[in-house]
Amino acid sequence: MSAERSSSPEAAIATDLSLITLPVEILCMTLTWLDPVSLIAASQTSRSLRNIIKPTRNDFVQRLLALELLPEFGGIVPLFRARDNAMTPPLHSREWRRNKYACCVCLKLRSHMWFDNHSILRLGMRKPPPGSREATKLTDWEPLQLRDPAVRWRHAQRRAAEEEELRQPNRVIYHRFCTGADVMAGNYMRVNFGPIDQRAGEAERMLCGTERHKRACNSCRFLRGDWNHARLMIGSPPTVVIKSRHVVLPHILERKFPGLLEFLHERHPDKLSPPKIQYNNWGGWQEHHRNKAWSLFTVRCSSCSQWQELAGFGFSISLWRTVHHVMAHGPVPCNKCLQRKDPSAWQSKIWATASKMAAEVREAMANRLIFGWDMVYNDFQQGKLVHYNASFGDRILCVSPWKVPTPTGWRLKDSFIPELRVRLGYLRSFIRDTLTDELRVELVQSWFKVWLKEYELYEEAYIYMSKVHALIVDEPAILDDYVRERDPYGLSTS
Ligand SMILES: [Zn+2]
Ligand SMILES: [Zn+2]
Ligand SMILES: [Zn+2]
Repeated sequence: MSAERSSSPEAAIATDLSLITLPVEILCMTLTWLDPVSLIAASQTSRSLRNIIKPTRNDFVQRLLALELLPEFGGIVPLFRARDNAMTPPLHSREWRRNKYACCVCLKLRSHMWFDNHSILRLGMRKPPPGSREATKLTDWEPLQLRDPAVRWRHAQRRAAEEEELRQPNRVIYHRFCTGADVMAGNYMRVNFGPIDQRAGEAERMLCGTERHKRACNSCRFLRGDWNHARLMIGSPPTVVIKSRHVVLPHILERKFPGLLEFLHERHPDKLSPPKIQYNNWGGWQEHHRNKAWSLFTVRCSSCSQWQELAGFGFSISLWRTVHHVMAHGPVPCNKCLQRKDPSAWQSKIWATASKMAAEVREAMANRLIFGWDMVYNDFQQGKLVHYNASFGDRILCVSPWKVPTPTGWRLKDSFIPELRVRLGYLRSFIRDTLTDELRVELVQSWFKVWLKEYELYEEAYIYMSKVHALIVDEPAILDDYVRERDPYGLSTS
């Protein structure tokens, strides 16, 4: 029975009309066959049904846990593979932004950013995948005559014991195929994981999500007093720092200004279009650099008691530095509090931070672009190519940047870019056509080889950052709009 279909008002009214004419015993039997969403919907259709069902808190919890699995309320149901912690879709994807989970204390569906990692990623706490035992279960509502607490308690105990008996063999399978010795060895020996993952997936469908009724959001956990660890609670009223998801960010600017680049693209499509390749996907990066993940943190602002991602504060990147800062200087209000208190002072502060950061990234891109040119220059002056200096050095290097008195340590200017590109063509054909095979092999290796191959990518990245920097510098108010219009992690919406 689909919760989605039967929760529509028409369906519920139809249920009511046909149900209410039944004898009470049969009606109660019928009600136990509803799913948790339909049970509450049925109780809201008429007074008579409401009096029969008398929904309890538990029934509302069950309903909320069913709603978090429906796309229109809870967003996605991510699939998790415990063997290697693979997440589909990945944590940094757009789909995750609308991913919501039920808090069974405040009975709200809240953005995933309201929860710590354990509360949504552990086996018992994850959203159960479609078709799993937990996702398809019916209401555990019981007819009125069984509502004597002692009877209910016995029933609940018996049900739990039966469930556990069913789950036990699956727990053994799950652990064998997720963390067992075979799997661990397989990671080194490149075994075929297909059958292993299938067994683990079947076990997961029996076990996943069965502890979700214990889930509480960060805010409720704080009010309940779950955290009194000295490093987490700082100051009075306390600033609380809770570790959150580990995400791969497409751009370093995203750590402090999540969604800012996307905002700039939308605001100025004429001036700025997204780069064809994200800079963490360059071939020159090693694997661990390409997939470098950052930890997000959710922080309780001690002034407005709102929970936000660390990026919502003027903090630096690491937890350690955040904690250090708060201990040294006292609690720091969030961006929104600062903006409310003194809009113009706040604007100049965030503008200074953003333009400084954009300038630093642009500088890093410029260094990447210059790196190979410096090598070429030195090789022609006194290195491997010194014999070619008279014949080719001028043609390749007779260009504005080197005409300054101290040729090393020159700074890249936007105006050099087209000229450098022409010279790069000369350099490539010189290496291809003129150099002897031995010299070519000796020269074109390691980082220089990567530079020669990826030059156009670095150039594009530099031009892109140059434009981003210019946009921020020319239009300080754009950051104001960004903070006002964007709520990158959906924290204030629910
Ligand atoms: Zn809550
Ligand atoms: Zn490295
Ligand atoms: Zn605040």
